[in-house]
Amino acid sequence: MSEILDIIKSFNCECSCGVKHTTSIKDIQIGSGLVNKVGEILKNNSFPNEILLVADKNTLKASEGIIESLGGFNVSFKIYDELRVATMNEVEEIELLIKDRDIGVLSVGTGSINDPCRLASARQDKMLCIFGTAPSMDGFASYSSPIVCDGFKSSYPAKSPEVIIADTKILVSAPNELKSAGFGDMVSKYIGLIDWQVSHLLTSEIYCEKVAKLTKDAVDELMEMADKVTENDEYTAGKIFESLLKTGIGMSFMQNSRPASGCEHIISHVIECLELEKGKLPNLHGDDVGVCTLEMLKYYGELARHSEIEAVKENVNWNEVYDFYGFMADDIKKVNHPENIVDAVEPQKIKDSWDNIVKIIKSMPSYEKCKLAMEKAGCKITTDDIKKDRAFFNKCVKYSPYMRKRLTLLRLKDMIILK
Ligand SMILES: [Zn+2]
Ligand SMILES: [Zn+2]
Repeated sequence: MSEILDIIKSFNCECSCGVKHTTSIKDIQIGSGLVNKVGEILKNNSFPNEILLVADKNTLKASEGIIESLGGFNVSFKIYDELRVATMNEVEEIELLIKDRDIGVLSVGTGSINDPCRLASARQDKMLCIFGTAPSMDGFASYSSPIVCDGFKSSYPAKSPEVIIADTKILVSAPNELKSAGFGDMVSKYIGLIDWQVSHLLTSEIYCEKVAKLTKDAVDELMEMADKVTENDEYTAGKIFESLLKTGIGMSFMQNSRPASGCEHIISHVIECLELEKGKLPNLHGDDVGVCTLEMLKYYGELARHSEIEAVKENVNWNEVYDFYGFMADDIKKVNHPENIVDAVEPQKIKDSWDNIVKIIKSMPSYEKCKLAMEKAGCKITTDDIKKDRAFFNKCVKYSPYMRKRLTLLRLKDMIILK
């Protein structure tokens, strides 16, 4: 599937949005049986002769044949038992193994394995290849790594891999719950695209139609395949991976996560941070994100049923916000003071732009349509499905917009008075 490489090349010019869309990704290979060609692909992309293979026991087992394919390379290994949450310890461990040597990193897995590899390779300036084993989240092409440090999960600037490989035979054998989670992560892009456009409208934040289309087309295409997601269908598994990859590339083109994440990702992040603090292991990213997406599609859909609104200045009880965030309160303060993301948003502008905001919401599929597709794809649908107490979930929704310096339609909830 060299289609994605063609897409990347087509962006390699000055864009009317004003951003120069570049990415360090040189090669993307998605196909059946590619596990036997990993060495060949690395060689073709001028990887050094020494390779550190990073995996966990599950992902290595799933990738049978990968070690044999590396004949001719001098391979060392860092194999974790199971890595559900990537911490700074792993980053430093990997850094030690690649420091001061001419070595490339081959990260075998999805999500938590790739994140420390991305950051360690960036810090030590090494080439990185990601061999994806499950189509479960959209971070493959990402330039940043979510890492837990001192109990707090934050995103560190890292690097996109030079090479991304996926064997559709392995993707299709991934557990169904991973494929469904990947689907849930994709549907969330509709909310991300609404939030991005609303912010562009109200704050003139840079918005790129071309990148937004790349994301939207990828989700639209996947929505049509919803009923095949949990089937043993190699083509669909490859397509989910490809879609996740496209949105990841969109993010790397914008150097931010606007094209692929909106208020639903922030809510899910709040849930994860608060639960991590209590020592609770997070759900699959796409499961939480998918449920948050449906909740927000429902809310945005309700907003769009109002043809007129009143708008007022934001009035937040900050003490209540900081109480909710507890150990994170200091970080939340920094995000909101002295400047606030809604300072620049005049209520009158929201009122005057309401027609356009409604149009933006209606340009994406409805809650009902997305829910149906997600049911077909075996996704988690309700807060019960993701085992969240409803009162806790509602609080996370309510306070989530203060976590980031980023305008979303959800952030405007206190400014919009429905008629
Ligand atoms: Zn995501
Ligand atoms: Zn652009």
